[in-house]
Amino acid sequence: MTATPRPERAAAPGKVNLFFAAGPPRPDGYHDVASLYCAVSTGETVTAAPTRGAGTSVGVAAVPGSLVAQQIDRGTFTLDAVPTDGSNLAVRAAEAVLARFPRLSGGLHLQIEKAVPVAGGMGGGSADAAAALLAVNRLAARVSGEPALDDDALLQLAAGLGADVPFALTGGAAVGTGTGAHLRPVPVGAPLHLVLVAAEAGLSTPAVYAELDRLRTHEDVPPPRLPAGLEEALRTGQAAELAPLLANDLQAAALSLAPQLAPVLAAGAAAGVLASFVSGSGPTVAHLVAEAAAAEDLADVLRGQGAPALAVRAP
Ligand code: ATP
Repeated sequence: MTATPRPERAAAPGKVNLFFAAGPPRPDGYHDVASLYCAVSTGETVTAAPTRGAGTSVGVAAVPGSLVAQQIDRGTFTLDAVPTDGSNLAVRAAEAVLARFPRLSGGLHLQIEKAVPVAGGMGGGSADAAAALLAVNRLAARVSGEPALDDDALLQLAAGLGADVPFALTGGAAVGTGTGAHLRPVPVGAPLHLVLVAAEAGLSTPAVYAELDRLRTHEDVPPPRLPAGLEEALRTGQAAELAPLLANDLQAAALSLAPQLAPVLAAGAAAGVLASFVSGSGPTVAHLVAEAAAAEDLADVLRGQGAPALAVRAP
């Protein structure tokens, strides 16, 4: 009897968008964006194990202490919301890799350890896809004895899975253009300190874009651009200089669909943070503070008030 090959495990970070501008809708329905992505120190882990059956199965668990675990403790979320069929982005990622190893047979199990809120604007599904690309690539190469796909091939598969997947693969900080998938890494002088606050219900990214287009119906929307000085402020690591430059075109749309985010943002101002913003299409809110200790203190206070909150570094 041959032993079952050992599993492979890989991680990928969640993200916030420190800046996000979206242009007008394109003829294909997508929007060109100018995004400053920044990875955060909370993210997803995927373990890929071979099985004797066929097809890909999925298991999902919450990382203790994570925003997802806090949402479950408060009764505002259950892991049933994560698809375990072929619509799970991690499954699509695994199958994209396996298609490049046609001689392999047998099934696959993906165990996802979730920390990033679902439909939270933090790219959780994209991080699962990125981690699955890495884990399945290593497993398939080891089991088949063929060379693993190189970084460029993985990035190409990532871009085919979703606009945020390439960034989840590379991490760090990067400017994203086009739909967000075209990346240019940018240096960060010092990690930023954020407090992430998860909402009770998720927001659908397409719904937020549709609301943005509706709110801008009569506006002449310029092509998306990063503001002057933003990359320099990040490079020098001066959070106070970065704070006034943070902006997100999707924030007004997210607030329009989820007005309950207004007091969450206002709580940051009341606590004297440097800036508060909605991440991506929301509804997760991030508060920028000057130091790690201030982030831990604010996260404690917000958790005491009943909100799922987590102090993180970025990147
Ligand atoms: P983004 O900011 O990248 O647009 P998001 O972080 O707001 O996305 P996700 O958590 O990635 O949102 O998931 C959005 C939807 O995708 C979910 O509501 C779910 O139906 C589907 N989905 C597919 N795969 C996954 C996955 N692995 N984890 C969570 N949701 C997934």
